[in-house]
Amino acid sequence: MKENSKKENAVNNLCTGCGVCVSESNGTLEMRWNKFGFISPYHVKGDIPNTTMRVCPFNPKPELDISDEDKLAKIFLKDTDNRDEKIGSYLGTFVGYSREHRITSSSGGIATYIFAQLLERKVVDAVYVVKEVNGTYEYQMFSKKEDITNISKTRYIPVTLEKLFERIDKLDGKIAVSGVACFIKAIRLKQYYHPELRNKIPFLVGIICGGWKSRFFTEFLAQSSGIQTKYKNQDYRIKDPKSSASDYAFGAYDEKDDFFQMKMSKVGDMWGTGLFKSKACDFCTDVLTELADISLGDAWLPQYRSDGLGNSVIVTRSNLANNIIMEGIAKGDLRVSLIDKSQIILSQSSSFSHRWGGLKFRVRMARLSGIKVPYIRKRVFEKISLPYMMVQIQRERTRKYSLIYWYKTKNADNFNKLMHFDLKVLRALTRMYHKLRKRK
Ligand SMILES: Cc1cc2nc3c(=O)[nH]c(=O)nc-3n(C[C@H](O)[C@H](O)[C@H](O)COP(=O)(O)OP(=O)(O)OC[C@H]3O[C@@H](n4cnc5c(N)ncnc54)[C@H](O)[C@@H]3O)c2cc1C
Repeated sequence: MKENSKKENAVNNLCTGCGVCVSESNGTLEMRWNKFGFISPYHVKGDIPNTTMRVCPFNPKPELDISDEDKLAKIFLKDTDNRDEKIGSYLGTFVGYSREHRITSSSGGIATYIFAQLLERKVVDAVYVVKEVNGTYEYQMFSKKEDITNISKTRYIPVTLEKLFERIDKLDGKIAVSGVACFIKAIRLKQYYHPELRNKIPFLVGIICGGWKSRFFTEFLAQSSGIQTKYKNQDYRIKDPKSSASDYAFGAYDEKDDFFQMKMSKVGDMWGTGLFKSKACDFCTDVLTELADISLGDAWLPQYRSDGLGNSVIVTRSNLANNIIMEGIAKGDLRVSLIDKSQIILSQSSSFSHRWGGLKFRVRMARLSGIKVPYIRKRVFEKISLPYMMVQIQRERTRKYSLIYWYKTKNADNFNKLMHFDLKVLRALTRMYHKLRKRK
């Protein structure tokens, strides 16, 4: 993929690079790497059609009938009337793992199991997933069930669905797609405007996402693990069966094919701090990929944390998804049990706290800075305390400067020095906020 040569200030870009807009752009847009390590649309020629924005998950002015996840769920998830304000439409809530796939997967291996089942049951002819190519990762079509573990593991590097609809046009058959919430929403919007795609893409696997990271995140991890040259075949989730689920490692090969590995604890909290995160994520209210047939995340729950091999939290939202899970349990393929829905919410409590809790304040701040914010369902807005507002301000500073400093230095030691003060302030403010909240 080309680098965008255009001068730009992409640090506040409200785009995660799903690339679905390209399929509506009549050849006027293509996806390119921007200077802050995200993939975003680039205007290559001609007049961009007015309809292009209608499939954007961060559209500030969507059509009112389909303006948010609540409305889209009513259109696309018809198998259930169960609704929870945080979980969305659902049939069942579960936790556990696939006996065959957990070991080679990111958490419980449920995503790989679902894709294997969809191919085996001939629900789809291929799956469209993120897979290795030339040492990095891209969305690709895949249909070999016998090699299914090749598609396992989640990759925290930007990828794009730019080519999905072009490839579907050429494919004589159906496909299932994996995606984080904004990518799934973009596909639903595309299906709304092109109903024939509902049949072509009968199943969506939602990957619960706590934030979309820039390519800089991977560059920083590779250098921190000791790689001085280019990196390849990076693995973001090397499990330690002797330790806890969150104590995983990052590893990658350098140009000489030597493998370098480092526990993620060495670089500290990469998620709660907002480091290398897309600005768009701060306006996403879909914590649990509410529009997918099935949503999958890590079981960040006290009773599962100690299991270093990992477990998945699972929310089924269509009959097919629910049947695959229930039959998998009955056949003994899955060690999965029903869990109260409150546990699913608890497993993503930090994400809810930041994404929903701080949202109203972030919207106000963005508007004050003249940033045009995406359309947001107001029901998620919450009032927050002054200490949490300060955490929000500092988190945004940390996010923004992590991108600017890496762009300038491309050196882990210098980056750590430059970020040191802001991270220290963020930690102090967060501690103060937690203390005051506990006292209340
Ligand atoms: C950017 C990102 C942020 C995440 N944040 C959280 C979080 O905050 N909380 C949480 O509980 N879980 C989060 N996850 C999900 C978690 O890491 C696991 O991926 C998820 O639980 C699925 O595990 P699994 O073992 O079932 O998947 P596996 O069986 O390992 O399969 C993973 C599947 O996802 C596909 N895939 C890989 N990378 C991507 C990608 N970038 N986009 C779309 N599909 C992909 C693979 O091709 C594969 O089919 C995040 C994942 C990503 C990519």
